[in-house]
Amino acid sequence: MKRVGAHVSAGGGVENAPLNAKAIGAKAFALFTKNQRQWKAKPLTSDNIEKFRQNCEEAGYLPEHVLPHDSYLINLGHPEKEGLEKSRDAFLDEMQRCEQLGLTMLNFHPGSHLKKIEVDACLKRIAESINIALDKTKGVSAVIENTAGQGTNMGFRFEHLAAIIDGVEDKKRVGVCLDPCHTFTAGYDLRTKKTFNATMKEFDATVGIKYLSAMHLNDSKPDLGARVDRHHSIGKGKLGVEPFRFIMNDKRFEEIPMVLETIDDTIWEEEIKLLYSLEK
Ligand SMILES: [Zn+2]
Ligand SMILES: [Zn+2]
Repeated sequence: MKRVGAHVSAGGGVENAPLNAKAIGAKAFALFTKNQRQWKAKPLTSDNIEKFRQNCEEAGYLPEHVLPHDSYLINLGHPEKEGLEKSRDAFLDEMQRCEQLGLTMLNFHPGSHLKKIEVDACLKRIAESINIALDKTKGVSAVIENTAGQGTNMGFRFEHLAAIIDGVEDKKRVGVCLDPCHTFTAGYDLRTKKTFNATMKEFDATVGIKYLSAMHLNDSKPDLGARVDRHHSIGKGKLGVEPFRFIMNDKRFEEIPMVLETIDDTIWEEEIKLLYSLEK
């Protein structure tokens, strides 16, 4: 079955996220395990951890249906020593929090070269950062999200994702999360059955469909190739409903978490219903 959900609030403690997900009829969910705009965070308490696990179990969420997202401050490809070290430490902390919660994935944006190093050097650095974190943790996979390619962000070409994966030593613990808004604004069309299939074929040929571990479900405010990251509610942006109909009827997306990061959280419940109504 398809696992559609949303990136829900973990306000008041991570243990609230599965409750918030259940309340909107989500069959998967994403969360931040700490404040995403701060470097430092209090460690999770044993109470947080126990209640999170218990609430997930009671609501029927398995670890593989939960997609934690890391902090926006982290840049695993940072061109400078201090920024890189700070990012690597924070990323390890995020991985360890997932480990403590019994989760199996951590979703993150690859990083940015900030016009200070070459693209290839940045991609190598990102892979090395992933290796360091994987080496110090167990059971959690690094799930690289494709980006819109805004500013100096890496990961907007499928070739970038392939190069990062190539540099990761433990291939069993690396995956990809595709965000349709990012895919589209990065220049890959998804709007017709023909273009959707061509884009997925290119992804398979360049990266490999076996690495597809999760999806985000976002319509897009900017147009094809705009290289700008602005999400929109499903069916209200430049993508429209059709790409989501293709996703909902494609076996390649079975059982992976597919989470809304759309702009109006008051309609997430409706959007989840809309997405399931697209299934034949
Ligand atoms: Zn996303
Ligand atoms: Zn985005």
